[in-house]
Amino acid sequence: MDEKFDCIIVGAGPSGATAALRLAGAGLNVVVFERGKPGSKNMFGGVLYSTVLNKLIPDFWKEAPVERHVIRKRFSLLSSTAEAAFDLSFNAFDSPPYNNSFTVLRARFDRWYAGKAEEAGALIVTDANVEDFIVEDNAIKGVKAGIEGGDVRADCVICAEGANSLLAEKSGLKTRPGPSSTTLGVKEVISLPKEVIEDRFSLEDGQGASFEFFGTALGGAAGSGFIYTNKDTLSVGIGVPISVLKEKGLKPNDLIEGFKGHPAVARYLRGGKTEEFSAHMIPEGGYKAVPTLVKDGLMLVGDSAGLLNPSLFREGTNLAMASGLLAAETVIDARAKGDFSARTLGGYAERLKKSFVIKDLLRYKDVPAAIGSIPGLFSEGPEAILEFLQGHFTVSEKSKDELHSEIRKAFRNKVSMKKLLLELYRASKALR
Ligand SMILES: Cc1cc2nc3c(=O)[nH]c(=O)nc-3n(C[C@H](O)[C@H](O)[C@H](O)COP(=O)(O)OP(=O)(O)OC[C@H]3O[C@@H](n4cnc5c(N)ncnc54)[C@H](O)[C@@H]3O)c2cc1C
Repeated sequence: MDEKFDCIIVGAGPSGATAALRLAGAGLNVVVFERGKPGSKNMFGGVLYSTVLNKLIPDFWKEAPVERHVIRKRFSLLSSTAEAAFDLSFNAFDSPPYNNSFTVLRARFDRWYAGKAEEAGALIVTDANVEDFIVEDNAIKGVKAGIEGGDVRADCVICAEGANSLLAEKSGLKTRPGPSSTTLGVKEVISLPKEVIEDRFSLEDGQGASFEFFGTALGGAAGSGFIYTNKDTLSVGIGVPISVLKEKGLKPNDLIEGFKGHPAVARYLRGGKTEEFSAHMIPEGGYKAVPTLVKDGLMLVGDSAGLLNPSLFREGTNLAMASGLLAAETVIDARAKGDFSARTLGGYAERLKKSFVIKDLLRYKDVPAAIGSIPGLFSEGPEAILEFLQGHFTVSEKSKDELHSEIRKAFRNKVSMKKLLLELYRASKALR
C-alpha cells in the first residue's frame, strides 16, 4: 500500500473497531489490519457492556446481533457436592438501555461492529497479521503487515491487538505479563432449544442470565466458572490464572469437564450439545500491570494495555471501547496540532485517568494480589462453609444446641478460623 494514512489500527476487536468508527466518522483516513476476519479469532465469556457503544450508535441493540439482555445475576459458592447462591433479578434491567449488559457471540458481534466502522469510512483489511512496526528515530511511523505491499505508513498507530500483546512488547512499552497476571479462559458454546433455556433459567423471551461460580468445583484452584445465556446456546467456561495451572499441574480441559459435571452446573446443561470449544488469555493484572500507554506515534488500548477490571464486575469490553474512543479523540486533537509525539498523545492517558476506566482499575488495584493470597477461599473454605451450612439445616433428633455445637467443632477441626477470617478480610478489603 503506497497510501499514507492518518491512523493505522491493529486489531478489529471492541477497542480497535471503536477507534476506527470514531476516527472514520470524524473524516480521518483510517485503516484497520485484522489478522483474521473480525470475530473469527475472538472469544470472551459473554456479556458485552455497552455504555460507550450506546453513545456511538444509539439504540444499537435494535440492529446489532445481541443474544439476550441480562436481567438475572447469580453468584454461587460451590463445594464438591453443594452450592450456596446469591440470586438477583432486576425488572428495571428489562427495558432500554437494558442496563447496558447484553450476551453476545463475538463471531457475530465483531463482524457487525467492524462493518459499522467500514460504513463510517474505515478501510478494514482482513487476514493481515501485523508483524512489526516501522520505526524511525524511535518514533512509530507505520506497520509491517504480513501481506503483499504490507509496509504501511501513518501519522500514528493504535495498537488494539488484545491480550497476547506481542506488538506492544516489541514497541518497548510493555514486558511480557507474568503468569499470575494472566488468566486462561476456556469456553464451550452449548446448544439447547430456546424454550428449554428460558424454562431452566426462569427467563422470558429476550431476557438473559449471567451465572458466576467460585469455589472447589475448579479443582480447588483460584478462578471462577460461568454460564451465560444466549438465544439458543449457553456460553459455559472457566478462568484460572496461568500461575495456578502451573503450580498445581492442572489441565484446563480437566477443569472445564469437572466444572460442567458439578451437580449445580450440570442441571443447566443437561441435553445440550457442545458446538464450539475455544481458549483465550485474559489480562487480569489490574491497575498495577497497566504499562506506559503512549510513545511517539503509538497508543495502546483495550486488553493490549491491560485495561480490564479484574473484580467481580468482570468488565473488559466497555473498558476496551472507552479506551478506543479516548485514543481516537486524542488522534483527532493531535491531527489538528500536527503533532503525534508522546507529549500530545499523552492526552490519551490523561483522558483515561479521568474516566471510569482508570478510576475503576485503581479502586480494584489490590484484587489480583489478594486472589493469590487467599488460596483457602477457593479450596478448603467452600468445603467447610457448605458442610457447616448443611449440618445447620440437617434434620435430626439431636437438640439444636447439641447439633450446632457438633458442627461448629467439626468446622473448627477442618479450617483454621484465624486463617479463614484473615482470608475473608483480605478478599472483602480488595473487593469492597
Ligand atoms: C474467557 C474470557 C471471558 C471474558 N468475559 C468477558 C465478559 O463477559 N465481559 C466483558 O466485558 N469482557 C470479557 N472478557 C474480556 C474481553 O473479551 C476483552 O476485554 C475485550 O475483548 C478486549 O477487546 P480488545 O479489542 O482490546 O481485544 P480483542 O477483543 O482481543 O481484539 C483484538 C483483535 O486484534 C486482532 N489481532 C491481534 N494481533 C494482531 C496482529 N498482530 N495483527 C492484526 N490483528 C491482530 C485479533 O484477531 C482480535 O480481533 C473475557 C475474556 C475472556 C478471554
